[in-house]
Amino acid sequence: MDEYQLLLDLHKNADRQGPGGDAETWKALDLAQVDTSAPLQIADIGCGTGASTLLLTQLPNARITAVDLFPEFLDELEKRAARTGVTDKISTLPCSMDNLPFDNETFDVLWSEGAIYNIGFTKGIRDWHRFLKPGGILVVSELTWTTGDRPSEIHTYWAEEYPEIETASAKIGILENYGYAPIGYFVLPEHCWSANYYQPMQNRFKEFLDRNGNSDAARAIVEAEKKEIALYESYKTYYSYGVYIARKVEGPN
Ligand code: SAM
Repeated sequence: MDEYQLLLDLHKNADRQGPGGDAETWKALDLAQVDTSAPLQIADIGCGTGASTLLLTQLPNARITAVDLFPEFLDELEKRAARTGVTDKISTLPCSMDNLPFDNETFDVLWSEGAIYNIGFTKGIRDWHRFLKPGGILVVSELTWTTGDRPSEIHTYWAEEYPEIETASAKIGILENYGYAPIGYFVLPEHCWSANYYQPMQNRFKEFLDRNGNSDAARAIVEAEKKEIALYESYKTYYSYGVYIARKVEGPN
């Protein structure tokens, strides 16, 4: 198995593939000030196995297009949707988020939790702008420094892993520069990382290693995850995911 297959194998059976939480998804929806009873076309970009997609199906008149690069995640989402009887509210689309096939002004809401980093925040919010209807809402969570300064060990680690990591004020400035009016922001609390993401992942390590013959490649993935978790434990006051909620405005884009 190559590294991608191993990562899919580690994450496919998880409820979520990144930090987040149902209460936080509802909170973002509340801050978005959308009429939740209205017919809403929503795209969930980088949906994974669909933690947020499935929650959004609870909106009575929403239709959600769930996009992910990996069909394996979308298959899992479809199984979950079938189990909860919401298949008719979603359609899945295996596609890269930098090559989306949507027409201009298709969506009332663009949703993306813990995924825009795959193409970078600035490129994502700039390229996706045209898919929103006028006045449509963007909700994205993005790795964010929560303080102006930080110890060099964590600064170096994340600057190498994700060079676009920035403070919320910088990210909000980017939104303002690319045709959005920010209307809300909050920081994902610790349980979104620990209880909802890292702990369940740690519980899967042994079976993952057994399934993959304890191969060097599988062990390297576990070691990398353990390093990320240890750094989070040491430095969690300095970063989190920020959740950004912004309304599309017409502007120089
Ligand atoms: N939103 C999900 C959640 O919060 O549980 C998944 C977050 S996970 C950290 C990032 C997701 O982005 C994965 O499901 C991954 O397959 C997907 N992804 C990676 N590169 C992508 C790309 N170029 N286009 C679309 N999805 C991509």
